[in-house]
Amino acid sequence: MIYVKKSEGVHLKSMLETAKSKDNEAVYRTGPVYEQIKTDFYEKCYLCEDNEVTSIQIEHFEPHKNDMTKKYDWNNIFYSCGHCNNIKGASFWPLLNCTDAGDQVWESIEICFEAYPKATVNVQLSSACTKIQEGENTLELLNKILTGKDATPMKKDEAANLRKKMLRAYNQLSKAIGKQDLDAIKDCISDKSAFAGMLRWHLKNNFPSLFEQAMSLPFDN
Ligand SMILES: [Zn+2]
Repeated sequence: MIYVKKSEGVHLKSMLETAKSKDNEAVYRTGPVYEQIKTDFYEKCYLCEDNEVTSIQIEHFEPHKNDMTKKYDWNNIFYSCGHCNNIKGASFWPLLNCTDAGDQVWESIEICFEAYPKATVNVQLSSACTKIQEGENTLELLNKILTGKDATPMKKDEAANLRKKMLRAYNQLSKAIGKQDLDAIKDCISDKSAFAGMLRWHLKNNFPSLFEQAMSLPFDN
């Protein structure tokens, strides 16, 4: 999970306001509202960071529970995948907000990936986390999403498929590290890249000097 700078969306807020009066959900699945969310989130699920989502969902960050204000609030609609949205439902709240720089989502949740003997993920709360309740809920949610912990057999399989994709991203970064190719490393951990959060932690924990060098380069997102 990484920080996402969501645009102000002034004109979109008025479109959502109009849709709210008719409870017209199509407003955030089609047209300019959807296009802007897609762009802001780099076409990545904000929870798992998969960027090849085949089941795109517009997710309400705070469960709206039919509260029309929350349902049509520009700041409350996020880009996610079906796997994460289904697991999250209305069960996890409050959570760390990836669109709020002050929540420091990446720094707060450490995602450790092991490639061998099989792709495994270990998610933990970092000492940088200052919002403990939000951090613990986010940790529990990401654990379920990425490891299938306490999830149904179907969700466990989906989590395993996700880890296969994470492994491909990890291998690509490993190749770039092997070649000491700073541009390629930077590309792997840029905001728009799949699983950038997990890859940044891997780089930071294992190749701290490469991490510092890559993070100091400008990103051309
Ligand atoms: Zn997802």
